[in-house]
Amino acid sequence: MLDIKIEKTKEPKIHPKEDDPLAFGTIFTDHMFIMDYTYGQGWHDARIVPYQPLMLDPAAMVFHYGQEMFEGMKAYYGVDGSTLLFRPEKNAQRANHTCHRLCMPNIEELDYIQAIKALVKVDESWVPTKEGTSLYIRPYMIATEPRLGVRPSQTYHFVIILSPVGAYYPEGLDPVKIWVEENYIRAANGGIGEAKTGGNYVASMKAQEEAAKYGYSQVLWLDAKEKKYVEEVGAMNIFFKIGETIITPQLTGSILPGVTRDTCISLCKEWGYTVEERRISIGELEMAAKEGTLKEVWGTGTAAVISPVGELNIHHHPLKVADGEIGELSQRLYDTVTAIQLGKIEDVHGWVLKV
Ligand SMILES: *Cc1c(COP(=O)(O)O)cnc(C)c1O
Repeated sequence: MLDIKIEKTKEPKIHPKEDDPLAFGTIFTDHMFIMDYTYGQGWHDARIVPYQPLMLDPAAMVFHYGQEMFEGMKAYYGVDGSTLLFRPEKNAQRANHTCHRLCMPNIEELDYIQAIKALVKVDESWVPTKEGTSLYIRPYMIATEPRLGVRPSQTYHFVIILSPVGAYYPEGLDPVKIWVEENYIRAANGGIGEAKTGGNYVASMKAQEEAAKYGYSQVLWLDAKEKKYVEEVGAMNIFFKIGETIITPQLTGSILPGVTRDTCISLCKEWGYTVEERRISIGELEMAAKEGTLKEVWGTGTAAVISPVGELNIHHHPLKVADGEIGELSQRLYDTVTAIQLGKIEDVHGWVLKV
């Protein structure tokens, strides 16, 4: 258990209006959580304070060698008016995996969830209530020791900030067009691809920028070695329905293990589908498309939950999926996951936690 000191703001901000479209991650709530780590002492000084800039030494190691972990999850306004979290323990566990890979300290799973609950409680009035909206939760850890020598930092900040976000699909699920990237790579086996860290994002920006020139908003990454097997999309994992089988790339170490990915695998299995976690090549997709068995493609992630894919561009050849429409299973997954998150249907899996 953390002993969290709470200092409330004396200057509360004005909440966004109910019909504000809330561009992702641009508005922040009144408070933030912060605690400090010192080698030999562990975590200390857990506190909730008014939202404010961080004071860091210009030599803080995060600026030079990139020791940074982040997470992303949401709090939802439930149908009964309570505030709900979805599988927060999965995020806590993944945060620790990332920290382990990046030589950063562990946070007790229960402390992590306690900190999130405490902050969301203080800023509960910021949870937007309109259909499809949520309060985005961004926990992160940074190396703060002022030192230019290369080794893991001996001091850290763990911070949580909150941002009300609008509906991802104000007009229903809209299929996206995806560029299959054959020059740049995101991550290689043995690297940090399975860690949720800024380094993976900066590695991906150039390809994203180039794909955007061709009119594609997202990039599908291939494996670093053979540039043949599908990995994932930007900030989403990817699924294919070929015939009646669901296929998603197996977690090889270079792919981020998404919570939404795990949720979709569980639901598809419960619904009687065969789910294969395995390598899947671009050639296999092209073949399935030619034979007419490539039924649906969709991405999974906390931001959009399900993002149907309407087109894949392979070597400058657009390949249409499901006539650019949303598939039946993609829609069913979206409807079911969001219904569970909002407490609209019974939570038989124990995935939902009240704040
Ligand atoms: C966070 C993230 C995902 C999706 O994970 P969820 O837990 O489902 O939100 C997928 N890929 C990358 C690279 C990510 O950073």
